[in-house]
Amino acid sequence: MRKFKQVAGFIAPYKGIVIIALICAVLGSLMNVLIPRQIGQMADIITAGINTTIDLGAIKKIAIISVLLVVIGFILNYLMGFWLSGFSQSLLRDMRMKLSDKLDRLSISYIDGMSTGDILSRTTNDVTVFSKAYSTNLGTIASNLVLFTGCVVMMLVTSPILTLVVIASTIAGSIVSGLLAKVSRPYFKTSSSQLGRINAYIDEVLSGHLIVRAFNCEAEARKEFEKLNGELAVSDWKSQFFSSFMHPVMTFTGNLAYVAVCIVGAYLMMQGKGITIGTIAAFILYVKQFSSPIASLAQSVSNLQPAFAVQERIFELLEADEIRNIDSIGLTDVKGEVVFDNVRFGYLPGQTIIHGFSAKVEPGMKVAIVGPTGAGKSTLVNLLMKFYEPDSGYIMLDGRPIEEISDEDLHSVMGMVLQETWVFDGTIRDNIVYSTPDVSDERFNEVLKETGLDNLVETYPDGADTEISEKMELSAGQVQLITIARAMIKDPAVLILDEATSSVDTRTEMIIQGAIDKLTAGRTSFVIAHRLSTIRNADIIFVMKDGDIVETGNHNELLQKGGLYSELYYSQFADKES
Ligand code: ADP
Repeated sequence: MRKFKQVAGFIAPYKGIVIIALICAVLGSLMNVLIPRQIGQMADIITAGINTTIDLGAIKKIAIISVLLVVIGFILNYLMGFWLSGFSQSLLRDMRMKLSDKLDRLSISYIDGMSTGDILSRTTNDVTVFSKAYSTNLGTIASNLVLFTGCVVMMLVTSPILTLVVIASTIAGSIVSGLLAKVSRPYFKTSSSQLGRINAYIDEVLSGHLIVRAFNCEAEARKEFEKLNGELAVSDWKSQFFSSFMHPVMTFTGNLAYVAVCIVGAYLMMQGKGITIGTIAAFILYVKQFSSPIASLAQSVSNLQPAFAVQERIFELLEADEIRNIDSIGLTDVKGEVVFDNVRFGYLPGQTIIHGFSAKVEPGMKVAIVGPTGAGKSTLVNLLMKFYEPDSGYIMLDGRPIEEISDEDLHSVMGMVLQETWVFDGTIRDNIVYSTPDVSDERFNEVLKETGLDNLVETYPDGADTEISEKMELSAGQVQLITIARAMIKDPAVLILDEATSSVDTRTEMIIQGAIDKLTAGRTSFVIAHRLSTIRNADIIFVMKDGDIVETGNHNELLQKGGLYSELYYSQFADKES
């Protein structure tokens, strides 16, 4: 029931179309159900006049009605297909839209727990399977239900006794075919598993053929193969036998109802029980109309199974935890004071990574965060960006807890330059102005100059409007500069920088360092430093270990202290310094 409720929400906007399509399906099936009766009447008129004269006028009338029924039935079925495929595409579009919106609002911890491939397949493949299954099978189910009920009603009206004959013989036929299928299934299964075993054996022997020969085990290998091959031949023979035997039996059981209708109908006719040739002719057609909807209904219900399975996956994503929604108020005049007040956090329940972290960062300060891998440096930044929320304690920006600031507002005043550089399909300009599209050309050119990208841009005929393509082969350093320019143009109050460890040549490293210095100048910045040489000019250095700050101070103070920082520093620079 819950499943249908979930889907109902998506179908609701297209109620009209779906209802019209279903009405078309119902009316189309009704047309089909009426045809055998016409044929029956025609047969009766012909038999009545076979020894005298056939009433051609009446036959003509029936023929016209029959043709009309076929044509109208066809048009109605076509319309049903037309409406339903339109509905399916709209459903598909809406679902993708909803999922795309949802992805923007998913909590990062939920995304952490899933693979990208899984999310991708839910938003594309699963949605297609879902909407196709619903749109194609809804119509089939509706028309077959009507066809089936209509057919039973028409048969009952025409001859209750023959109706019973049709139902009984169809049931008997289905039972026999069902039993046969059940008996033969294990043979088919064994045959394919035997084939699997023989394949695995050939693979094993082929891949180890040198060993087999070296140990003179060819005869052993052949013996084993003969055994497997013999078993496969036997099970193949059994399954072939069953399948060749089953086909005629299935046809026979399918035809059982026709035979029964003809025999019982002829008997009743001879007994003068009100059965005519026409009745028998009509019933022969009803037999088909009666059995095919049952098979189609079973098929449609089984076709819906994958839809149910993917529906669960789609709605699991749609109903997943979201980031808390706070109204955006627009932050202005942010000075960039950041305070961590006894922050505790763990990604998983029961696991604490940051144990009571406190620190105050004055506006414009350059803070370096250093520490061994796994110390919690990225975690601290994740908390500051509000990608995760602390379990307890506060992080404040200009005296206001960030949990009271909307993500949109917070991110509008924060800039981030990550190790994993990211450029998207588009021009160099698109990539730089990214979230600040209304930037002036003047400022844009200034940023190009400050990052040294002006030299790169000049080498292309289209300048900054050159599309970034795979053929361009931007170097790691150039991509890094583009991401620095992107942050610079945004002019954030607080900057987070995860320094690249990727090796670039010394000259590029100097250019990047120069651009970073310009970017961090005068704004609160948190630099996760991997090369400690680059943070000598930091106002304050947080040395982290196992989620705690173990030392704070500037470069010289920390070196003098001779603690973890100096240990890390000298281990990196021992050779160079000496
Ligand atoms: P650093 O940046 O100093 O190398 P991190 O902040 O990335 O360290 O990691 C700190 C600890 O948190 C590590 O033990 C790491 O395994 C764990 N961790 C990091 N990210 C996640 C995550 N998404 N889910 C669970 N644990 C995580």
